Amino acid sequence: MTDYRGPRGTYDVFPGGGEPQERPELWTFVEDRARELFGLYNYSEVSTPVFEEARLFARTAGEGSDIVVQKEMFTFLDKGEREMALRPEGTPGAVRAYIEHNLYRLAQPVKLFYIGPMFRQERQQRGRYRQHTQIGVEALGTSDPLVDVEVISLLYAIHQAVGVKDEVVYVNNLGDMETRQAYVPELRAYLERHRGELDPDSVSRMDTNPLRTFDSKHEGTQAVLVEAPKISDYLSEEASVHLKAVRGGLEALGIPYEIDDGLVRGLDYYTMTVFEAKSGALGAQDTVGAGGRYNGLISDLGGPDVGGIGFGSGVERMLLAAASQEALASLDVFFVTLAPEARIPAMKLVGALREEGISADLDYGGRGMRAQFKQADRTGASYAVILGEDELARGDCTVRDMASGEELVVPVADGAKDLIWAVSG
Ligand code: ATP
Ligand code: MG
Repeated sequence: MTDYRGPRGTYDVFPGGGEPQERPELWTFVEDRARELFGLYNYSEVSTPVFEEARLFARTAGEGSDIVVQKEMFTFLDKGEREMALRPEGTPGAVRAYIEHNLYRLAQPVKLFYIGPMFRQERQQRGRYRQHTQIGVEALGTSDPLVDVEVISLLYAIHQAVGVKDEVVYVNNLGDMETRQAYVPELRAYLERHRGELDPDSVSRMDTNPLRTFDSKHEGTQAVLVEAPKISDYLSEEASVHLKAVRGGLEALGIPYEIDDGLVRGLDYYTMTVFEAKSGALGAQDTVGAGGRYNGLISDLGGPDVGGIGFGSGVERMLLAAASQEALASLDVFFVTLAPEARIPAMKLVGALREEGISADLDYGGRGMRAQFKQADRTGASYAVILGEDELARGDCTVRDMASGEELVVPVADGAKDLIWAVSG
């Protein structure tokens, strides 16, 4: 037994893994469904490094974010003493790449997706890890509210495709910077009057980002917030029109959503639409995916003054929220070889089947017949193909339907076409 263990807050994915996020076949399933949908919605892949300069993340997330305040970032100095960080989220890298490669010169919006690991130094709980994987999108270069509708409907479509249960999307509008500048001092003044009733975290956030007090789980704080000024009363004409258009679109597409005017999200760059998709199948960590519009971010990072919107959705939480999901993929054909001379012909037939898109495998252990059949069973193979001395001499093979036990002798002398036909049923 080794004394090495995976780092705290991480997990492995391996054959036979017990937890949903440990099962390789579920990862393949989720990634395949997401990629299909990205194709259908016309999104292209963007892939950026898992580390960037730390200041990119600090700047975008902002002073008041968990990433900065709770020191969630994994930072390190490189050999040139530059402060780098493992990415805590996908948006900053994607937006940096959009600006760096002049993608704003293409037809807008530029619709991007990514699938990859994110890193946050947090306390591990169910559905909360130090390395997790997000599937996310960024639609850059426009502020059209119908893009918000598309992005939210895509998040919902991915969750439905992977079987997330009992889902509602909560939506709010935080207004533009002007709205927030009018609203935040009012909220702060109100909270100040109730300072004694708030939890220490909320008190410390009051100066940097009082909006975040809405995220507090503290009962006293929540009680204070019931009477607090609401951002919905401060929305500019433009923000109200935007919200109305988003609602109209979501209703037309039949996305189950609710307005939640206490929804603020943890990153400072959000403007206008913010949203969170929650599942009733999860416990404390019930947000499966979330996102929002960021109309000041692209220009803030040195790009043109255009809007963008995106979401990030945690694959681990999707798998937890879809929990009873049964593995679908299994092997089509397993070859049972009864003589050493049968191994090479079996490998050739395996190759011929794979070329036809039929998954196939064989015994590599030189095991006896019983053990090989057991293995065929374990792999969930639909057919076992038996190749022994007799079959080799006759130029055929025996195909066993693993479900019914029925056997069929199929010639292989003139290539694999009869075998392909026999196992394609
Ligand atoms: P939370 O409120 O749970 O801390 P967050 O607001 O920090 O979430 P985002 O930054 O919006 O989350 O990340 C988007 C999604 O990524 C979340 O909805 C969740 O599915 C997933 N996620 C975020 N942090 C973690 C983590 N530490 N472990 C697993 N998944 C995570
Ligand atoms: Mg968090």
